[in-house]
Amino acid sequence: MAGYDLAEGRYENRALSDDEMWSAFSNLFSSRSKNSSSYKFGFLKAIMDNLYNVDENLTLTFDQLFGTFTEVYWNLVLKHGIRQQPVSERSDGTYLEQALNLTAVKYTITPEIPFESISDEAKIEVCKRIKSKCKVNVVGALFGDTKGLFYSFSRKEEWLQINPQMYQFVCKHKLAIEKLNYYEWAKYLEKINDDSVMDHLLTKIDKSSERENLSIYRRILFEEFENESCFYCGKKLSNDGQKVHVDHFVPRAFIKDDKMWNLVLACPTCNLQKNDKLASIIYLEKLLDRNKKIVLVNKKAKDMGTYSAQNLRAVYYWAKINGYDTIWQPKKMKEV
Ligand SMILES: [Zn+2]
Repeated sequence: MAGYDLAEGRYENRALSDDEMWSAFSNLFSSRSKNSSSYKFGFLKAIMDNLYNVDENLTLTFDQLFGTFTEVYWNLVLKHGIRQQPVSERSDGTYLEQALNLTAVKYTITPEIPFESISDEAKIEVCKRIKSKCKVNVVGALFGDTKGLFYSFSRKEEWLQINPQMYQFVCKHKLAIEKLNYYEWAKYLEKINDDSVMDHLLTKIDKSSERENLSIYRRILFEEFENESCFYCGKKLSNDGQKVHVDHFVPRAFIKDDKMWNLVLACPTCNLQKNDKLASIIYLEKLLDRNKKIVLVNKKAKDMGTYSAQNLRAVYYWAKINGYDTIWQPKKMKEV
């Protein structure tokens, strides 16, 4: 695990071939890259889940990354009881397990409670604890295992900047890289866990950063931005949570995130029919207009992350070339 103790790293700034970029990931997933824990798989997931939250310099903060990292581990370790490191002689568990357990005890949270449902205070505390410890070796280890080609980082200033060539590459092969990551992660976890927690393991990993409760977005969108009608067919929506679905415009299975710029309100019929498909390009234009309105209302801008129209167009394009190429639109439309 060369690089694990680095305080900072710089990606090699030269032209890279596709073969070289693939070999960086092959190296990471090969047996040459040793695993004493699952952290590098978890950290790669945190980067992949935040791929569309980068700023204009392709930079992510450690708070963004370790926010996702903590959520993933909370759900895997506490909710599903899956160990991430072999049982050691130390009876109090690894640092990560200790940090999770300490927070759960302090705030009297039972293990089945998913991360999304714990209080903001508890979330902030546990993220800070895990960031301060894990940033010391996790960021440098993944940097070394991807041959110093994937990103630059500074532990002191707490940022990570993705190599622009690698960014294009990773967006283009996002689903393939994610699947490799989950496969190797699952293989590692099978070695150190009992069969009792292993059922649906790949789904547990895949959904470890998924939220169920999007009601806050439903309220804001319903009240302020969508004229109380279905984004797709234009049908009037009644203000009843059951009948107003929050739809991920670019499917969540691809984007793995719940930012306001990708959420619209839909009637159950449209939401269920659209499912994991992309909506036709006229709806992309409609969403760009809708988002323009949200950005104008400053107080809601915090829910927009690092949104830009250019990013949304890019994400739509990347989803298509990753296999989301079935284009959907409702049969009956009132207005578009
Ligand atoms: Zn509809």
